[in-house]
Amino acid sequence: MTNNRQQKTINDLEFLFGAAILIIVALLFLWWRTHERAQAQARQGAEHAARLHALEQERASAQEKLAAFTHITSDGIVQVDANGLVTYMNDRARDLLQVTNRVERPLREVAWGYDLQPLVAQVLSESGGATSQTIVKDERAFHVQVVALGDENKRGALLGITEVTELQRLGRARREFVANISHELRTPVASLQLLADTLSEDVLDNKELVTDLLSRARTQIDLLKQLTDELMDLALIESGQAPIRLVSIFAVDLVNDAIAPLRPQLERKQIALETHIPPDMEVLADPQAIRKVISNLTHNALKFTPNEGRLVIRAVWHNQGADVEFSIQDNGIGIPDKDLPRIFERFYKVDRSRTRAAGDLRGTGLGLAIARHIVEAHGGKISVASVEGKGSTFYFTLPSGE
Ligand code: ADP
Repeated sequence: MTNNRQQKTINDLEFLFGAAILIIVALLFLWWRTHERAQAQARQGAEHAARLHALEQERASAQEKLAAFTHITSDGIVQVDANGLVTYMNDRARDLLQVTNRVERPLREVAWGYDLQPLVAQVLSESGGATSQTIVKDERAFHVQVVALGDENKRGALLGITEVTELQRLGRARREFVANISHELRTPVASLQLLADTLSEDVLDNKELVTDLLSRARTQIDLLKQLTDELMDLALIESGQAPIRLVSIFAVDLVNDAIAPLRPQLERKQIALETHIPPDMEVLADPQAIRKVISNLTHNALKFTPNEGRLVIRAVWHNQGADVEFSIQDNGIGIPDKDLPRIFERFYKVDRSRTRAAGDLRGTGLGLAIARHIVEAHGGKISVASVEGKGSTFYFTLPSGE
């Protein structure tokens, strides 16, 4: 009996023990599952967070790049929405369009007078796409490109604005330069052709005529040589290949050396030349280059002064002795006021009839442009004062020497 009870108790205990084990195993299993799921969720969460972080970084970097791009680009950038309201514009666009007011206003108002609206309307319309046009305002030229942004439901437009004023000016200058050279070459070449034709006819016995024709041919050849020499000078100076080597030199020596070759022409025209230059005055100059300046200015003065005229070359200290100012004064035909601002331009001649009046001493229109380049390369300034019919005075400055 006791044994049976004991046996039952043992069975009960075994059952309880077994049940307990099962419960523990089930609980362990449940815990493990929950733990696994939590870990998977945590892993997913971490991956998600990392993806978000990477996306955020990508967005920030793209935004940074865009900001840097719109900052450094020399183009103006303007964004407008579907209603034509400006939503963004970089500083360059503000500069170019001279915008002082806030954005978020119609493009028509923000960029008043630039006529950009039709371009934007074109790309904002159904067709979308892109368009471009060159717009001129207040003598400035702008190349404007417009591209559509977004889709049909939410369209906007991006404008890129590039100033092309300088580019157009350079293009024009190049075309004018070529036209001017051709023009300057045509006259002496045509004259030489005519002289050669005349010589080839039966005139060789007429010694006087032959001498005259040859002398005229020499004049035309001199003119061609002057043109090619001056073109070469200008090309070297403008490309920076004619470096200025400054030395301290007496002003009087510079002037005397420069005018020596012109003495025969001065005598032929019976032009009186005075020089007023302190003998101890020194300047810092590239002697060869400055001799060219003095010679060009003096040559012009004698060219545009009638026979028996008067030329005065002076040099005075300026700026408490820091600079020296040279002046070359004539009492010739003078220069009309309207031409004064342009005479230092390449190929500029006041008018062709006056130039013809200079007879054999016709010029190329390059002398003053070369003189200006040389003086400015010395850190000096060149200028002119003139009264038509009375005469002209050309001034230029150089730094003082020792
Ligand atoms: P050019 O070779 O024709 O003399 P420059 O460049 O030296 O060319 O001068 C430009 C123009 O300026 C001349 O064609 C002339 O019309 C005018 N000019 C220059 N110097 C004088 C002057 N001393 N008197 C009158 N006109 C001058």
